[in-house]
Amino acid sequence: MSSLTKLKLLIAAPRGFCAGVDRAIRIVELAIERLGAPVYVRHEIVHNRFVVDALKAKGAVFVEELEDVPDGAPVVFSAHGVPKSVPAEAEARGLDYLDATCPLVSKVHSQAERLVAAGRHILFVGHRGHPEVIGTFGQVPKGRMTLVETVADVAALAPEEPDNLAFLTQTTLSVDDTAEIIAALKRRFPNIHGPRGEDICYATSNRQSAVKAIAPLCDAMLVIGAPNSSNSLRLVEAAERAGARAMLVQRGRDVDFGWLEGVSTLGLTAGASAPELLVREVVDRLAERYAVDEEQVETAREQMVFKLPRELQAA
Ligand code: SF4
Repeated sequence: MSSLTKLKLLIAAPRGFCAGVDRAIRIVELAIERLGAPVYVRHEIVHNRFVVDALKAKGAVFVEELEDVPDGAPVVFSAHGVPKSVPAEAEARGLDYLDATCPLVSKVHSQAERLVAAGRHILFVGHRGHPEVIGTFGQVPKGRMTLVETVADVAALAPEEPDNLAFLTQTTLSVDDTAEIIAALKRRFPNIHGPRGEDICYATSNRQSAVKAIAPLCDAMLVIGAPNSSNSLRLVEAAERAGARAMLVQRGRDVDFGWLEGVSTLGLTAGASAPELLVREVVDRLAERYAVDEEQVETAREQMVFKLPRELQAA
């Protein structure tokens, strides 16, 4: 009989890769296959070191700005989206580029353009400095969009035309925090125009719902994801708010057995940019110390698949 301590492991489903991340990675892989290495990628294609390193090994070169891409080299734009100035600069330099922006982010870009064309000022709910926010702000002329991060920000707004506003949101926010901010916007600006719910994507909200279902049953919860992954950080928050201690880990070796002391039921999930391989790695690591009894808790089924860019469909 095993002398290992028993650990009940509740694994969230859905978890890990979303359709946008899957597509972005595939775009880089196909670009390398079709155009040959090196293929440059502006910014981490998705916020996960493991994914980035695997693509580097295949011939991708990651840079932060277009100026770091040599003339004549192909370049891919990350899933988070880019300001309009980036493809414009690539075209001006005659660079061959592929856009891996998630179609759900592109949808927000088009909405922003349409709202500004209709003369509205946009209040954008998001996190300052996140590449998706920078990309979305870069779809409209300067001064036509204002960032709102908190309910307190809503109270501080002083728009020139309070009856001519619209709101949009980042795709990877906390569903609950965003609902509060939108409610505050609607209270303060009753004529504000907005999408039916918000622009938080299906993958972000499904992963948060799965965590909310599991966390109350757990003593603690591990979230696999990168520290710069917005949707992964939101999963840690969701678990904590649902009553479980929660910790972000990047991979198996980050599991802190001291932190797990006294835990008999552990929850496990992964952010939208974390590959399933890392989930198995974490389970294997846990199995070094515990007799792990795994159970998958499915709260939704995802079937979303996004088409590849036209240039690669033919490949
Ligand atoms: S998290 Fe959502 S918006 Fe971001 S890449 Fe995935 S599906 Fe697209």
